[in-house]
Amino acid sequence: MKSAEKPMDKPKDESFQKLIVTEHDTFTQFSQYLGEDRVWRTDAYLVVGERSALLYDTLAFHCGLYQAVMDRIGEMPLTVLISHGHYDHAGEALNDFLRAGVPAYMSHADKTALYRMYGAGYFLEDFLPLHEGTTFDLGGRVLETMTVSGHSPGSTVLIDRAADIVYTADAIGAYEFQMSNGYEETSLERTLRETRTLLAALKTMKAPQIWTGHSNMIPGGYHGRSYLEELVRVIEDLVEGQVEGERYMRKGEPLYTTRKYDRNQVHLLYNDHRIWERSQTRNERT
Ligand SMILES: [Zn+2]
Ligand SMILES: [Zn+2]
Repeated sequence: MKSAEKPMDKPKDESFQKLIVTEHDTFTQFSQYLGEDRVWRTDAYLVVGERSALLYDTLAFHCGLYQAVMDRIGEMPLTVLISHGHYDHAGEALNDFLRAGVPAYMSHADKTALYRMYGAGYFLEDFLPLHEGTTFDLGGRVLETMTVSGHSPGSTVLIDRAADIVYTADAIGAYEFQMSNGYEETSLERTLRETRTLLAALKTMKAPQIWTGHSNMIPGGYHGRSYLEELVRVIEDLVEGQVEGERYMRKGEPLYTTRKYDRNQVHLLYNDHRIWERSQTRNERT
């Protein structure tokens, strides 16, 4: 609905932004709907160790997230890790954490995402840089980071090996828009290499659960290892030209050079002009 079609006297219903808290065995999940239709939801995850805590993403809108996190960790030091620079994962509420002096990390490779796509008013200087292999030792729990680009150049996944949990936000398995931004995604070839590295890194985990940033779109809430295996095979087939997706239509029109490919649990949008690394010229610059 266009804004001009909205009845003028009806106040905007923002109750969809309410904070939803779900306690799991090894983490707390904070969620919030992104629109009044309550279709898309965004998730943030809190992991608490013996000495400190880490929050992966900060949701989209103000909803009391800062206080809810503080209520759970008390005096314990907190670190924020932002998966990537999109507003639905680093929106208004991030400011509450920054103002309180909580260190926030985000890959500086997401500079473009932060400024051009949905910038919520943050600057790159607000974020401590993440480097390949950065780990967070919370005391009794060590969280590993890994870049899996595709959705954005700096998309960072978080691995809690001991708990058998992988947090991926939009980098892996966040339904079809994993590669769909149309201008800032990296090549499928690079994503394939990084996705294979992630799959190899999960080898020693018993039954990893992959929690995305939009988990309500996934039956059961999370993906298993088989999803990642199938994703690797799908991207391999696309890169090798074994299969090809359909032109992706939005409102009856093709959307940029986007194509859509579905197989088993994998629903993938990708940019037909960003399949191989050698044809990529714009987005490797950071
Ligand atoms: Zn995103
Ligand atoms: Zn998202």
